[in-house]
Amino acid sequence: MAYAASSTRPRSVTFRKPTRWICTSEPVQCHRCGMEWEHGDPALTLPCAGCGADAGEPCQRRSGGNETVCIKRDRAAEAAGLLRPCERLTWDGRHTKPLRLSGVPLPHMLPVLTGAPVSRVL
Ligand SMILES: [Zn+2]
Ligand SMILES: [Zn+2]
Repeated sequence: MAYAASSTRPRSVTFRKPTRWICTSEPVQCHRCGMEWEHGDPALTLPCAGCGADAGEPCQRRSGGNETVCIKRDRAAEAAGLLRPCERLTWDGRHTKPLRLSGVPLPHMLPVLTGAPVSRVL
């Protein structure tokens, strides 16, 4: 069951608080190497083998922190050639590319479970 990212239909998924809102097609940037993905995190175009999120949906780990994807999703994106390992010296070669978080559900946005504060620049 996949919704288009452009869908404006309200979703009936129940999330634990606090919930933020994200847009999967907004640009994201790696805080370490500076690489930018203009059309959103490539890993989000794949379903997540870590938490079961559908393609185009943010990860949904019950522990929260879902502005960053599961490691399995990053690895799947690398295996599919969508993502190259981060060139900065990270312990696992993963980019640090959190989704931008909104405190209000603007059109085209999906809920994401996280305790992180709202991003300053949207
Ligand atoms: Zn996941
Ligand atoms: Zn990087």
